[in-house]
Amino acid sequence: MVVRETLEQRERDALSPLAALSARSKGREKAIEPCPLRTCFQRDRDRIIHCKSFRRMKHKTQVFLSPEGDHYRTRLTHTLEVAQIARTISRALNLNEDLTEAIALGHDLGHTPFGHVGEAVLDTLLKDGFQHNEQSLRVVETLEGGTGLNLTWEVRDGILNHKKDGEPHTLEGGVVSLADRIAYINHDIDDAIRAGVLSLSDMPRELLVTLGESHGGRIHTMIMDVVAQSYGKPVITMSKAVGEATNELRAFLFKNVYVDSIAKREEGKARLLIEQLFRHYVENVYVLSTEFTKNLAGGAERVAADYIACMTDRYAIRDYTRLFIPRAWAEI
Ligand code: MG
Repeated sequence: MVVRETLEQRERDALSPLAALSARSKGREKAIEPCPLRTCFQRDRDRIIHCKSFRRMKHKTQVFLSPEGDHYRTRLTHTLEVAQIARTISRALNLNEDLTEAIALGHDLGHTPFGHVGEAVLDTLLKDGFQHNEQSLRVVETLEGGTGLNLTWEVRDGILNHKKDGEPHTLEGGVVSLADRIAYINHDIDDAIRAGVLSLSDMPRELLVTLGESHGGRIHTMIMDVVAQSYGKPVITMSKAVGEATNELRAFLFKNVYVDSIAKREEGKARLLIEQLFRHYVENVYVLSTEFTKNLAGGAERVAADYIACMTDRYAIRDYTRLFIPRAWAEI
């Protein structure tokens, strides 16, 4: 018996009847020989970890643009925190931890440079709009390496539907969606305090009483609540009290950190930079590699947006400088 079959049997024996079993996956777009060692979901996790889009997340903004400080989150460290929270919940609920991990590691692959400002600009520039979850799916289905990663249906479904109002078809996808929110709400507070944008005394007292005084304490409260509310149930959810406090904390962050705070003062420049790059690449789409231009049937705008969405913050700045800032005449 190959190792994979032992692992598949172990899933059948040990996991909740509500879990997504790897042996029952709806499969890949292109059928491939199964791996002798890994289940299909473990293999998807590895495909994501080894791809270029995954490594680029280390230089993409989470909230603070291209942070110089070593301790701020980037899109990559955010992703790792989401994966860890999601795995903890998934294991406690006896769901498929491998599927959960693969969805979590892939959920933000389509994020633009400069965080949500990049997403918002492309959304106004494309006639069909631009959403990072749809772009993450596009990365794993067609863009990465020019062919996509050929992932299983369950991982792609979880990536597409991880947003707040999304409806993933597996509970593992539901776990990632909540874990994403738990991760960013908490680490964005931590980073905002580090940046001097917030201080603990600014935070609504009653929320700290409900959720916890410390960073770790708040994550613990939220995770425990999700596990207690969702165990053995066909839905991943929070209690009314913790869910409402979490939503209020999120609203507080929108008001005090995500919009109009000192942390956002470079955003206007980022917006102009992306707009100008977009116009340039729509007009000069032929300079891009076939990895991108093979999708030209969808229009030059779509190809330019794909190319820009793939950029890291620093690449976008470098590319803008190369294209639009006159270089001094070099001395000989
Ligand atoms: Mg995320």
